[in-house]
Amino acid sequence: MTTASLSSLDEFMTQNSRVYNFSAGPATLPEDVIRQAQQDLWSIFGTGIGILEHSHRGKAFDRVLEECEADCRAVGNISDDYGVFFVQGGATTQFALIPMNYLPDGRTADYTDTGLWTNKAIKDGKVVGDINVAFDGSTCDYDHTPSDDEINCSDNAAFLHYCTNNTIYGTTFPAPPKTSAPLIADMSSDIYSGPLNLKPHAMIYAGAQKNLGPSGVVLCIAHREFLKSRCRELPSMLCYDKIEAKESRLNTPPTFAIYMMGQVFKWILREGGTEVMAQRNAEKAKLIYDVMEELSDFYHIHAQPHCRSMMNIHFKTPSADLDDAFIAGAAAEGMDGLRGHRNTGGMRASIYNAFPRAGCEALAQYMRAFATSHG
Ligand code: PMP
Repeated sequence: MTTASLSSLDEFMTQNSRVYNFSAGPATLPEDVIRQAQQDLWSIFGTGIGILEHSHRGKAFDRVLEECEADCRAVGNISDDYGVFFVQGGATTQFALIPMNYLPDGRTADYTDTGLWTNKAIKDGKVVGDINVAFDGSTCDYDHTPSDDEINCSDNAAFLHYCTNNTIYGTTFPAPPKTSAPLIADMSSDIYSGPLNLKPHAMIYAGAQKNLGPSGVVLCIAHREFLKSRCRELPSMLCYDKIEAKESRLNTPPTFAIYMMGQVFKWILREGGTEVMAQRNAEKAKLIYDVMEELSDFYHIHAQPHCRSMMNIHFKTPSADLDDAFIAGAAAEGMDGLRGHRNTGGMRASIYNAFPRAGCEALAQYMRAFATSHG
C-alpha cells in the first residue's frame, strides 16, 4: 500500500504499527515529538513554511533556536556562566576538536579509557598532542569504570577527558572523577537521563542521537572562562568559542536536528524534568537487571554491579548460538535492535529516556521465557 492511497496520516500510522526499538542510536524518540514534527514539517508557527524549509537566519528559526537553548538550560538548570551551543560532525569530531582547542603544545591531557569511544578519543587526541592514558580499561575488558584511586593523573594536565556512560559496554561513572584539571565529559549516551551534574565540568558534549533527538547535531555546554582559553589559532569552524559567540550559526547549522532537540527538551519539561527521567530509567533498567540477577546461571551481565548503566545493558547467554537465537526470537516478538556491538557480540538493550517501560517489561518477560526454554 502506498501512502498516497491512504486518506490520512492517522490511517497510515494505524496500519504501520511500531515495534520496540532497542537501538543504541539513532534511537527511539518520544511519540509526542514525532507527531509534532509531522505537523511542523508542513508548516511551523503558522508560517506556511515547514521547518525543513525555513532559512537559518529567518524569524521562525530564530525562535526555534532561542527556545531550544532556553529549554536546554531549563532542563539542565544551567547557569549563564556556561555557554550552550550546537555543533556538527558528531561526537567523534569533538574527539579531535577538544585537544585542538585546549591542549597546548608542551602540555599533557589525561584520558580515562573506559570503552571503544574513549579509545577513539585517545587515538584522535594523540594526533594532536601528548595524551596520558590515566586509566586503561582494556585490561579488564571494560567491565567497570575506575574509582578515583585507579586514575593516574599527570601533573598540571590541560584537562581530564572521560565518558559518563559507555554505550557499548554498559558501564557508567557513579560520580565524576576527581581531578584538579578542567574536566571534560562525553555525555552522548546519558545526558539528561537524570539531573545534570554540571558544576565539576569545564565542558560537556553529547551527540544527539540517543537521548536528545536525531543525529547531525552535538550539544556542547562549556564554562565561559574555559571557552575563552583556546590555545591555538584554528580555522573558524573548528573554534568552539567562535561557534558559541555566533550562537551556533557560524555557518548553516543542522536546523532540523536542532528543532528536534528543542522538541525533546520541551517533552522532558512536560514530563516533569530530569528527576522524573531518572526515576523512570531506574525502574525500567531494574526490570531487566532483576531477571538476569535471578537467572544468573544463564545470563551474564558485562558491567560490574557498582557501575551498571541505566541506558545500555550489555549481556550474553551461555553461547553465541544462543545469543543469535535470543535475538531472532525477540525480533519475532516485536523487539528490534538488541544485537550487541560488533566488537563485543552478545546483546545490548538501549533504553534511553524515550524508550517505553512497556518495552522493558516485554523484554524481561521474553528473557524469562527464553531462559526456561533454552536453559
Ligand atoms: N561517544 C559515545 C559515548 C557514543 O556512544 C558514540 C556513538 N555511539 C560516540 C561518542 C560517537 O558519536 P558520533 O557517531 O555522533 O560521532
